[in-house]
Amino acid sequence: MDTKTKSDLQSIRMAAISKKRTCMYSGCHDRAIKSHVLQKNGILRQMSEDNHLVEMRATSIIELEEKGMFSFRSVGVNESYTFNGFCNKHDSLIFAQIENDNLLDFYKPLHQCLFSYRGLCQEIRRKEVSIEWISEVSLKLDPVSQLQFASLIDGYKSGVKNLNFFKKEMEKAIDSGDLSSFNFTTVKLPKIELCISVPLNVNELEDSNPHNLPYEAWKDSLSFPFTTSFINLFPYKKDSYFISGYHTDFPCGWTKRVTNKLSYLKNKKLKKELSDFVVLRLEFWAMSPSLFKKIPAKTIEKFKHIFSKNVMNHSAKMKTDINLFETV
Ligand SMILES: [Zn+2]
Repeated sequence: MDTKTKSDLQSIRMAAISKKRTCMYSGCHDRAIKSHVLQKNGILRQMSEDNHLVEMRATSIIELEEKGMFSFRSVGVNESYTFNGFCNKHDSLIFAQIENDNLLDFYKPLHQCLFSYRGLCQEIRRKEVSIEWISEVSLKLDPVSQLQFASLIDGYKSGVKNLNFFKKEMEKAIDSGDLSSFNFTTVKLPKIELCISVPLNVNELEDSNPHNLPYEAWKDSLSFPFTTSFINLFPYKKDSYFISGYHTDFPCGWTKRVTNKLSYLKNKKLKKELSDFVVLRLEFWAMSPSLFKKIPAKTIEKFKHIFSKNVMNHSAKMKTDINLFETV
């Protein structure tokens, strides 16, 4: 691909990323502002240095060959861990309880749900943006690439449909105050300056695709909605908190096992579990610059390689021997 094409494609992508969006709260049509996925002052600013955090970001299409799919960036706290999520009113109204340190209770189901809801909305919006720019970019590509992109877009679309199901369920729970359709658990951990707030689809039913069929041939046998779990991790004051959950009609065994492990593992083994989230499961996280600096360069290189290789893999069995936080 020549430089001109690459730069055209990158412009399409940037236009989708910076496009004005409407509020994600169901029924609201006001313009979305930049919402922080976690408390800006109580959590993100506390772990920043010179008001910056480290995030993993998709590489610009122009630098793709040189730098690989992802690179690590220092991002200012105002921009860090944000998305165009809610209008001004809903951004403050819905999350008032978890933004107020005097009310905040990590063990209260409503608060656990609010953390998970914001992380869930972030993922939906990110997928929506991807669908838009990938659809537009694919029109400019050759037929073979178009076909590959079509199945990628299809995957994103069914992902969004699935996450929207859980979004509606969470809104019902938050509005009514009846949280009985969700099961959340909070585990207090030794402090680590790492933030995560995402929904995850971990495919435990490997045998739902026993012959390893390509997505196209297998997608119609997928049941809906797919098991989805909600994972949050962040430092707060002297500790870190891990909040996980799932809908009670679609319980996730993997989430139960991982949450249980985190409640008793210590030191290196605990850090290995947290490392596995970052290395194997998700791309949307933020770290303090000092935590990031402690990860050896060799480990970072391995991490990038493993991540790029597994990007579409959701198997519960995925394993790696690297531990980003071994020396932390
Ligand atoms: Zn709104």
